[in-house]
Amino acid sequence: MSKQSVVLTELICDKLKSSMTEAVINQTAIDIAGELRCNVPAFKGNRLNLEKHVLKSLAKKKDFQIYIHYIKNPRSYTETFITEQVETLLGTEYKDKCQSFFVTNISNLQTHIRQALQEVSKKIKSQNGDTFKEFTTIIKDKLTFDSIPSENFTDVNFDFLKEQMEKGLDVIGADLKKLSVDKLKKSRQRPDQILIDQLCDCCWEKCPFCGAVCTNTVKDHKIAKEGGIDHSVPFHRSGSLKGCHYRHTVKMSLDFCTTKVASDSSFYPDASDRTVPHKTYRSAGPPYDTWSITPDLFKLSYWQWVVCTFKDDLEKHYNLKYEGRGEIPKEWKEITFEEAIRSLEEMYK
Ligand SMILES: [Zn+2]
Ligand SMILES: [Zn+2]
Repeated sequence: MSKQSVVLTELICDKLKSSMTEAVINQTAIDIAGELRCNVPAFKGNRLNLEKHVLKSLAKKKDFQIYIHYIKNPRSYTETFITEQVETLLGTEYKDKCQSFFVTNISNLQTHIRQALQEVSKKIKSQNGDTFKEFTTIIKDKLTFDSIPSENFTDVNFDFLKEQMEKGLDVIGADLKKLSVDKLKKSRQRPDQILIDQLCDCCWEKCPFCGAVCTNTVKDHKIAKEGGIDHSVPFHRSGSLKGCHYRHTVKMSLDFCTTKVASDSSFYPDASDRTVPHKTYRSAGPPYDTWSITPDLFKLSYWQWVVCTFKDDLEKHYNLKYEGRGEIPKEWKEITFEEAIRSLEEMYK
């Protein structure tokens, strides 16, 4: 056998191994992300459902710093939540599923490459041609294979090459079966990133009064005066969670903004002395006029529980006090963790 044939075979098997590894990892990342999206409760529903799971996990962690991260930057926290969930799932209940995707993807690739070898082999029997180029053209939809300067390999026996590559494929396949779930972190797009792209590509505007996030699933959606729909969210929060307070005092503004817009009170939309009645909050201009806030007296127990649980932390964080007009009513303090969670379950069905 010519030396060229041996060198070329080694070169190709090397390249085959690295490109197969890459392809298997990338495809498995896509497959497992799809599997998680279909089966994991936090990922399989709509936007509100994801929010419910985020809020539940926050309550379970009961860590003020994490809450503040979420309140100030809900998108960044939601992404962290997805990444953490995916990491846990891949290390536990989805570990075997990952391995089985690895096995399937390896076997699919092996079949594909064997078929390519067959095709090329048939072709060269009928015509002379650049066999290697022929081969890479066939497999390039599945593998990234950098070109090998084939002019250096003029004296190559394709039958030998084919036989060696088929043997090589078995060795590579057996090796690839040892891939671990950790390798998915090296995929072109990590599974958590695939889910983040799917689940977080929506509107993240925050209510100017309470910080609740618009639940529109369309990113940069038009607002009403542009012919679209204004930002909205089914459940608002106590303004105190984002440090809303009575001007020139340290008193927290405890009310939910839905209650405020139903009341006769007014607010300062900016640093000037201008006041605007809550009932006509839209006249305050942007961003207030881009929000649709329906007046009602409903208060989600979850947020009342959050205020009571983190009262001291919130006071310290904002340098304000829950006192005077901002005093927390007794009923709020009676809400238990279980009731808070239940309120989420009932509201975000
Ligand atoms: Zn609000
Ligand atoms: Zn919106």
